[in-house]
Amino acid sequence: MTDRNLELFERAKRVIPGGVNSPVRAFKAVGGTPRFVQRAQGAYFWDADGKRYIDYIGSWGPMILGHGHPAVLEAVQKAALDGFSFGAPTEREVELAEAILALVPSMDMVRLVSSGTEAGMSAIRLARGATGRSKILKFEGCYHGHADALLVKAGSGLATFGNPTSAGVPPEVVQHTLVLEYNNIQQLEEAFALHGKELACVMIEPIAGNMNFVRASVPFIKRCSELCTEYGALFVFDEVMTGFRVAPGSAQQVYARSIPGFEPDMTVMGKVIGGGMPLAAFGGKRAVMEQLAPLGPVYQAGTLSGNPVATACGLATLAEISKPGFYEDLGRKTRSLISGLQAEADKAGIDFCGDSEGGMFGFFFFKELPQNYAKVMTTDNARFNTLFHGLLDRGVYIAPALYEAGFMSAAHTDADIAETVAAAGDVFKLLSK
Ligand SMILES: *Cc1c(COP(=O)(O)O)cnc(C)c1O
Repeated sequence: MTDRNLELFERAKRVIPGGVNSPVRAFKAVGGTPRFVQRAQGAYFWDADGKRYIDYIGSWGPMILGHGHPAVLEAVQKAALDGFSFGAPTEREVELAEAILALVPSMDMVRLVSSGTEAGMSAIRLARGATGRSKILKFEGCYHGHADALLVKAGSGLATFGNPTSAGVPPEVVQHTLVLEYNNIQQLEEAFALHGKELACVMIEPIAGNMNFVRASVPFIKRCSELCTEYGALFVFDEVMTGFRVAPGSAQQVYARSIPGFEPDMTVMGKVIGGGMPLAAFGGKRAVMEQLAPLGPVYQAGTLSGNPVATACGLATLAEISKPGFYEDLGRKTRSLISGLQAEADKAGIDFCGDSEGGMFGFFFFKELPQNYAKVMTTDNARFNTLFHGLLDRGVYIAPALYEAGFMSAAHTDADIAETVAAAGDVFKLLSK
């Protein structure tokens, strides 16, 4: 069945480290041979053997409309005819910036870049430049791209700063990064009492999608915001994954429903805003954003930033998601997937729980939803791997690692969801034996 995938993987491993250009694609956590994608359309992709899969990764979030949406395809083809890259400004960049700002009112200005990593890294430099402070605070289990200062795990105590999680990151580079437990208000307050006046920013994934799917509690977000205001640190929402994925106004809109008037100071975006092309952004209040070069002293630049083909793709994608009822339909389908899986797990007598917001979801072999990274990491790996491969065999592609979220697209049909739920039901039965 997977001969051609295997052949390609062997060939890839000779010329690309691990055979992949981003580690999770190698199936290291789940074992087996990665599927090499030949083509994709709507909710499906076909691997090198021509086998079809229902795709719940969607390029890790960007493909919110599904693959090859006709309006997006047309926009990209049209833009490509006018040129791939100029290194000079274009009207389309202005249009995309205006479209983003119209949907996310906490931002007055936005700068376009090419990847989420670049956006997060630049946001931190700007926060440091704007506040004149060096230290930053992040939370365990949140991923903000692979900039050196962010590849860090918690130190041994609140007064100590983090340790690098990657070789090649000198300890001195992460000595300004404080790492705390997600959703732990007491630890947050203690850390602010010790270091609040030295903090340039607090960065968070408001709904963490890089430890499966874990929401920051409303009181936690509220307290983060209050402490940032009190101590003069910037509260940065990393919405690279959640941006335009969970709601038209992104995760900050979801929190503003419970915390009236809530706005982060800065927002980092990626994934959906590029619709599958390399495009990301960071933005915030005018006074902060005007610290960026060429207006201010904080340097930031990019040869391909605001790329004309990528901005066309992003604009066409944002136009589709702005249509009435888009998120209602997406959210309904995502909830129906999770409740379908829950019903099958219940039938099989398996501990299971799941959660979703808009087109983003997660599920766990737990009775209750976890609140932090340490709990997520107690997931039974063997169980997850059986589910993963069971689904893969049955033509359903979920993330090949238990600490990743899943994604629904507008192209998924109720029939796709029913097929997925039935496939999971088969595997749950095997697991319960
Ligand atoms: C994907 C992701 C990033 C990194 O984006 P890249 O485009 O992969 O560099 C940063 N933050 C979050 C929350 C993400 O999900």
